Amino acid sequence: MNLKLVSTICPYCGCGCGINLVEKDGKVVGVEPWKRHPVNEGKLCPKGNFAHEFIHRNDRLTTPLIKKDGKFVPASWDEAISLVASKFKEINAQFGPESMACFASARVTNEENFVMQKFARVALRTPNIDHCARLCHGTSVAGLAKTLGSGAMTNTIKDIADAKLLFIIGTNTFEDHPLIGRRIVQAKERGAKIIVCDPRFNITAKQADIYVQHRSGTDVALLNAMMYTILTEGLEDKEFIKTRTKDFEAIKAEIMKCSPEWAEPITGVPADTIKKIARMYATSGASAILFSMGITQHACGTDNVVSVSNLALMCGMIGRPGTGINPLRGQNNVQGACDMGCLPNVVSGYQAVINDELRKKYAAAWGVPDLPNKVGLTIVEVMNAIDEGKIKSLYIMGENPMVSDPDINHVKHALQSVNFLVVQDIFMTETAELAHVVLPAASFAEKEGTFTSTERRVQLLKKVVSPPGEAKEDWEIICAIAKKMGVAGFDFKSAEEIFEEVRKVTPQYAGMTWERLRKPEALHWPCPATDHPGTPILHTVKFTHPDGLGIFFPVSFKPPAEVPDADYPLLLTTGRMIFHYHTGSMTRRSATLDNEVKTGFVEINPVDAKALGVKMGDKVKVVSRRGEIEISAKVTPNIMKGIIFIPFHFNECSANKLTNPVLDPFAKMPELKACAAKIIPIPKE
Ligand code: SF4
Repeated sequence: MNLKLVSTICPYCGCGCGINLVEKDGKVVGVEPWKRHPVNEGKLCPKGNFAHEFIHRNDRLTTPLIKKDGKFVPASWDEAISLVASKFKEINAQFGPESMACFASARVTNEENFVMQKFARVALRTPNIDHCARLCHGTSVAGLAKTLGSGAMTNTIKDIADAKLLFIIGTNTFEDHPLIGRRIVQAKERGAKIIVCDPRFNITAKQADIYVQHRSGTDVALLNAMMYTILTEGLEDKEFIKTRTKDFEAIKAEIMKCSPEWAEPITGVPADTIKKIARMYATSGASAILFSMGITQHACGTDNVVSVSNLALMCGMIGRPGTGINPLRGQNNVQGACDMGCLPNVVSGYQAVINDELRKKYAAAWGVPDLPNKVGLTIVEVMNAIDEGKIKSLYIMGENPMVSDPDINHVKHALQSVNFLVVQDIFMTETAELAHVVLPAASFAEKEGTFTSTERRVQLLKKVVSPPGEAKEDWEIICAIAKKMGVAGFDFKSAEEIFEEVRKVTPQYAGMTWERLRKPEALHWPCPATDHPGTPILHTVKFTHPDGLGIFFPVSFKPPAEVPDADYPLLLTTGRMIFHYHTGSMTRRSATLDNEVKTGFVEINPVDAKALGVKMGDKVKVVSRRGEIEISAKVTPNIMKGIIFIPFHFNECSANKLTNPVLDPFAKMPELKACAAKIIPIPKE
């Protein structure tokens, strides 16, 4: 038997685990552990273990498709690229660059994302480039950039095991980042205390020493009340505040309004519990905060993140091993897509487009007079702008807003009405079905490039097999369109050549070469020079702001935009599960993972279920102000009374038909984690 093992990176969550793909006769036939990999040391979660199962599905897209008379017709690459290039030029000339938008992808490589933002800014000359980080950690990037100067995980995954206390809020780490969950277990085995705050008593909460069940959307009240206890009991780190931070006085007045007794009726958490966890966090010696979308996906998401940061700065729990603020990024390359500048306000390396000096330096490197100098539209704003007739074309690479975005009925209306929609993907997704042109792309096993994991580790992806049919790597497709449009600067011959350009214009990546990345440890950014070892822990001596200081900002509690009322008496929150990934386009095509969980469900507390006459497994309607779905009820005490939970992976009972597209004012993050809803039992026939 002629088997070959190729070490590469898991295509799913942001942990960035190393896997060995098993190749036989030009096919990937399995996954084997990569024991030398520093993140997972040979261990994998179910998704990683079966990461090969979707690669050779016979429903992979293998040829370009052009919609004619409402039906997709196979086309040659020449025909498809010519059509896309000519339509882009036509729309650009007729309606102007700002009538065009591009969505990059948290699932494709850094090199492909870099080329996509270059395409938007140079070929289309539009500022409207975004991707679905907007829907997961846009508020982390905005909040931490404000307070620390850098919107990324401060410490490493391995470092989590060295904490003396883990304060875990709004992340179901054991399901969503299982190999980070392993480090939580290691920390616990070494004597660390574990505090988990979440409206659901999920499997992460079951590992906690103290479980805090607070109402969805009340994080600021909980965190401010913890800080009240810390200040009134003199537990803050006075030396750290004095030497490493500024504007501490500015938050005191707000914090002193938020006693634990004040927070108790808002959060549902007893005041004594709030005091206890505050003391534990402040006095452990090394406390690390882990958070994810329970904190970020709110209309007050940036406030939530700033509040988390205030707590860490106040206690000096940052810049040392075992401490830090750790936003756990959801998708394999969501950190990288942000780093590469697939955001409407920054080019790669978080260099602001409204900063004339930075932007012009960047434009000079690309040999163009200037780049769009205004902040473009975000994902939800693009959908709204289509409705308003302002956006005429949308080019989507590797994203599926028909499942991932809030208020799907509105998204569908927008995508059906945009003048020209191009979708580039590996499968015919719910979004691709609405496109005018579909372009077939290579999967993670069929290309080279780099992914940047949640801990800022930049890792090499290896090509194991060829793409199916005529599918191409995403960067090749984008470059072909740009060249057809007659735009210079897209003559790349390889992904490595693109990475060389990334290094030139992105200070955090300047010292990285593919040669340096060819070892399991790879490198953590920032890595400013080729002799720099990379930076596993951020902010050890100073913060990323020009004056080197961390900044406090006062934050006041605001309830979710929609709270339960007489018409919609329940609060809906959404989330993920271990067997499925994002919009399910890959995991639901993996036979093993699909077999584990076939469809969605709504979790409902037994008290609410009894009042409604709903039993386990009953079909119910869940209704919000934006839509309704039919779904099976899962009656469980794990969810708080008054709150219901739906995983968002399943299109046929899509939680996002119900969610609220109201936006965080700073990061434009929609409030995916809290909206008012009701349940209507469906009578049995
Ligand atoms: Fe893949 Fe994440 Fe599972 Fe690791 S923890 S195997 S990166 S899905």
